[in-house]
Order: sequence, then C-alpha cells, then structure tokens
Amino acid sequence: MGLFVKKRTMWAVGILSIFLLVGSGCQTDEKRANEVKSGTYSATTKGFHADVGVEVTVDDKGKITELVADVGGETPELGGEAGPKVAKEIIEKQSLDIEAVSGASITSKAVVDATETALKESGMDTEKLKGKKQTAGENEEITTDIVVVGAGASGTAAAAAAIDGGAKVVMLEKTKDVGGISKFFAGGPFAVESHLQKEAGKEYDIKKEDVLQTLNDYAHYINYGPLTKAIVYKSGDTIEWMEKWGVDFHVNEETPQIAHQDDDMKWRLYHWYDLFSYEPTDKAAIDVVHEKLADAGLEVKFNTTAEKLLKDKEGNVIGVEATKEDGSKLTVHAKSVILGTGGFAGNPDMMEEYYNTDALGQWGEDGAGVKMAWDAGAAKWDTASSLLHGNGMVAPSKESDVTLSTSPFNQIVRSPLLWIDRGGNRYCNEEAVWDTALSSNAAYSVGGIYYIVVDKATLDSYTKGKPLVMDTAVGGPNMDKADFVELAEEGVKQGIITKGETVEELAKGLDVEKSTLQTTVEDYNTAVKTKEDAYGKSKDSLVYGVEEGPFYAVKMQISNLGTLGGVRVNDKLQATDENLKPISGLYVVGNDAAGFYGNNTAYPPYEGLATGFAWNSGRIAGEDASSRLKE
Ligand SMILES: Cc1cc2nc3c(=O)[nH]c(=O)nc-3n(C[C@H](O)[C@H](O)[C@H](O)COP(=O)(O)OP(=O)(O)OC[C@H]3O[C@@H](n4cnc5c(N)ncnc54)[C@H](O)[C@@H]3O)c2cc1C
Repeated sequence: MGLFVKKRTMWAVGILSIFLLVGSGCQTDEKRANEVKSGTYSATTKGFHADVGVEVTVDDKGKITELVADVGGETPELGGEAGPKVAKEIIEKQSLDIEAVSGASITSKAVVDATETALKESGMDTEKLKGKKQTAGENEEITTDIVVVGAGASGTAAAAAAIDGGAKVVMLEKTKDVGGISKFFAGGPFAVESHLQKEAGKEYDIKKEDVLQTLNDYAHYINYGPLTKAIVYKSGDTIEWMEKWGVDFHVNEETPQIAHQDDDMKWRLYHWYDLFSYEPTDKAAIDVVHEKLADAGLEVKFNTTAEKLLKDKEGNVIGVEATKEDGSKLTVHAKSVILGTGGFAGNPDMMEEYYNTDALGQWGEDGAGVKMAWDAGAAKWDTASSLLHGNGMVAPSKESDVTLSTSPFNQIVRSPLLWIDRGGNRYCNEEAVWDTALSSNAAYSVGGIYYIVVDKATLDSYTKGKPLVMDTAVGGPNMDKADFVELAEEGVKQGIITKGETVEELAKGLDVEKSTLQTTVEDYNTAVKTKEDAYGKSKDSLVYGVEEGPFYAVKMQISNLGTLGGVRVNDKLQATDENLKPISGLYVVGNDAAGFYGNNTAYPPYEGLATGFAWNSGRIAGEDASSRLKE
C-alpha cells in the first residue's frame, strides 16, 4: 500500500479567504433587502478539526458582497480547500443552498451554517437563501434493475459488472463528478496471478493461496475468510476485466517503502494505473471506465444524495430514496441496491464512537451508506477498521506555517529518531517509519498522537547532511540543504515544536512527568551507546542520542485515509444480519463493507489492498446482483 498525499503539509494551516465582487447583474430579493441592515457580520461554528469562522458583508439591498471563511484549523487538502470554494459559491449564487465539497462535507456545512448565523444578525430571512422551497422541482420515481449508490471505485465496478451481466443500472452520486476519493489518490489495486505478473517474471509469481494465508495470519483469522478468499481469488482476473473497461496498468519494478523491499508480497501485487492523477480535475483511470459506462447505457444521477432504503413487508430491499440538488425527491425502485459510499472517516461523531479518539485525520465520507444499511437491518461489524497511513506534524493554530512539513525538516519526520507518547514513554522500534502503515498503526497504539524528540547536536548533523536512513514513500522527504536548528526554531515560534533547554524543561513544556521523560531519554541514550535496543532497533539507526540541549519535541498525528468496515457482508457482498443471513436485495461494497481486513484498526502493510478491495468487491456484487435477475 503506497501513500499518496499531495506534496503539501497534512496538518499545517493558513487563513483562507475569499474577496469577491459580485457582478451588477446579480438579482437581489427586494423583500429580503427591506429587512436587512447593511454591514459586516461574523459567526463561528464547529468544523471538523477546529472552529470555522466567517465574516460576511451585506449591502443595504441584501446582497452578499464579501465572505471571508477562516478554515485555518482544517486539513489543508480537504476543509482548507473546501472553505474558499463554498464561500465563493455562496456569493456567486447568493444562496445558502450549496453542495458540499466531496471529502469535506463537515467543513462545507460549517461554512454554510456560520454564514447563515452571521446573516441572521443582519436581519436577513435566511430561509429564503436556502432556496429549496422556491426551486424544488418535481418529485420523481423511476424503476430499474439495479441501483448503485456512489461513483467511487467500488460503485463503478458494481455498475460495470451489472451491465456486463445484462442489467439496467442507475447510479446515484451526491457530487457533480464521478470518482470519489478513488479518483485521484490511490495508485491502483493489488492483484494476484494477473497476466501482467505472469509476463513480468518469476519474482511476481506469487500464489493466491499464499496471499490468502498471509492475510489470514496478519488478521489472526478475525477477517471473514470467505470474503478475503473471494477477493484474493478474483483479483488477478479483475485486471484483465478492467483492461476491457479501458484501464491500463503496469507493475512496479521497485518499491519506495524500505520495509517492503525484502518481501515481494508486500509490493509486487500492486498494479499501478497508467493514468494516475493527484488532482481531482485531471483525467484518471476511473474516468475512462465511466466514458465506457456511459456508452453502455449507465445513467448517473449527479448531485443526488441517497438517504433511505426502501423495504417491502418481507424485509427485502427494493429501492432507495434520494434528494436531488433542488431539494426534490428521487425514488428508485430496483431489484437490488448496491451501496458504495466510501465509509465514515469524515463523520467525527462516528469516528469518536468507534475509534475512541478524535486524533485521526479527515479523509472520507459521512457514513451515509453504512447507516442506511444498518437501518435496513444489516449487522454492525468491524467498525474500527481503518486505513491508517502516514503521519504528519500537528499545527496548533492558523498562524502556523504551511511550509515547515514540506521543508527539509521533513527529514526528521521520516527518520527513525526517538518517538515518545503523550505520557513521555517510548513505545516502539522507530524503524516502523520505513512502512507507512506500520508507523501509523504504532501511533494509533498510543492514541494517534506522538512526539519526535531530538537534541541540537542531532539537528546539527542533519544540517551537515548526515541523516539516518529515511522513509522514501511518496517521493521521500525534501532533501534540500538547510539549517535544521533554524527550521526547528521556526517550528517553536509557530507552536508546532516544543523546546526545552533541559529535559526537565522539555517535560514541563509537554506536560509529562519529568522523571518519566528523563528515564526514557536515559534508556534511549544507553541503547545508542551500547548499540543494543530492547525494541530491536538496528545499530545503523542507533546513532543519535538525546544528550545535548536545547531539546526539541515535534508533535505528530496519524493520517487516516478512510474507514474500512461497518456493515457485515458475505462473500457475494450481500449485506447480512447478525445471523449472517443475507438481506435480500442489499449489497455493500468498498469502504462501507466489513470483513476483508478484520484489522481492528491495524492496517496490513500490503500495497494496493484498499483499492483492490473496492474494485473487486464492487465487481462481485454487480455480478451477483445481475445474475439474480435471471432467477
Ligand atoms: C490520500 C489517500 C491515498 C490512498 N492511497 C491508496 C493506495 O495507495 N492504495 C490503496 O489501495 N488505497 C489507497 N487509498 C484508499 C482507497 O483510495 C479507498 O479505499 C477506495 O478508493 C475507496 O473506494 P470506495 O468506492 O469505497 O469509496 P469512494 O471512492 O470514497 O467513493 C464513494 C462515493 O460515494 C459518494 N457518496 C457518498 N455518500 C453518498 C450518498 N449518500 N449518495 C450518493 N453518493 C454518495 C461519494 O461522493 C463518492 O463519490 C487511499 C486513500 C486516500 C484518501
């Protein structure tokens, strides 16, 4: 599994604001204007990681002329980008009826809600700005064979397989585009015994039964064996099937993950899309499939959010109810519903309930599909499985510099230096940094937050270009020359790094027991001197002790790339109840489905697993649902 994040800081922040003059042709509601007092109003509401603030200016005609959204505390790639987009749209449309930005629905909603609160201060009737009542179109009812919810990899595969099986398919997608998170980050799926591996030579000759056994072993058999088997055994053929749908792949000749290099299974299963994109606007592999799907007759209803499953008296799922962009309802009657809505990592309440910590990142959806399936009687299962992947510096405030974590200081983050938890204790062999999954799993073991502790002498060595062997995933760290003490001091100024002239002072700054931190540091220094470490760190990484003040502690946090469970399914991806009895007519795929990993949060370090699961689970569900039409 490779990590593909944009080469910007994960957690650093900045104020993002929009100043936009509205064109003179813009309509203003006269009635609304009469009630409005011109001026600038502000309000704050809870976002995902932090409060979201707005400052909105209205003129005496009730026109919104300026809107500044402060989303500085949100994840830059998600809420940080969504905030200005939503603010711009509010001004352009003079409306609060704004579609949430995919992957950042909480921040999007926070900007809208805060704007509404601020506008109310001006005396404006904000109900009118929501506009749904005035603009709602006709409610609509349609009938099809299979309805797929979600246009990510899992939903797309389900639709393609169902069409292959001769079914008439309608797809509902809440955003205006296809692809979901599947479109622009994941490099591609894992696959076993594909034709590409056979052509690539004997190092790629890895057997299905060995992969299945390895995954079962990794999960201690807590995974649902029949499902893991079905996915692994399907995966090789899925490559050829996807090629038929227009996707080209290649297998890697090397892996950037140091910890994977001696284990073929960890990386030689990864099948990279030839057409890969870091940006949602670029064309990616999934777009090619959708072009072919459109030719094959797939109807995608965009800006349409599925909300509720329809059931008959016997408990069979017979369709889905959705809301369209204009607020009107769409009811789709179908023989089967396939839910592929991307999990619930973007739902802070669910994350807190199932993960016992709010210290995980924000990637992911709001759990709509998972909740719909539960409401329809599907069993809750494996609710704490996640794609924990990579760690980033934590920026405490909007003043923090967005560039520190992409600066050469990232070499410190990617090195096996001393890591401590919030209690001041060391907790693992820091060489876990060479595997993006394992380093996150280790960080989860201490609640998702940890500190990297270094002294000035270590920073001086990095300045001289003498780093330890570093993690090289996602292009590796910035290797430019730099003064690391200067960078650390900058981090201290911004509140990203805690500094102490002595270990005691550092302990005070971190709010940990002085004696605990002193013992941790002494033990670590002994390990460095003797080259013997109780956690098993290798001699080559036992180079830098923590001896000479000043001392620095860099606050770090896990990045969670999505939840990987929630709804119990069988090997056909049918949702099942607690007794493993299928709920007729309901399939759950991709990040919404439980059981493949059985990971209880510890994500297995095999490249391409999650994307592979998305495509293969969708394909199996689409095949099964379409085959049942003939019954
Ligand atoms: C940064 C990042 C890097 C990653 N890198 C890798 C990697 O290298 N290898 C790997 O294997 N995996 C990787 N993954 C994980 C992988 O991308 C996902 O597990 C997989 O793409 C999930 O696919 P999906 O179809 O389940 O969900 P998604 O792609 O999230 O699709 C869900 C779709 O459902 C729509 N939707 C949600 N709710 C509704 C609703 N109520 N009504 C209608 N539509 C709805 C959404 O808008 C979205 O389009 C990465 C993930 C991230 C975030």
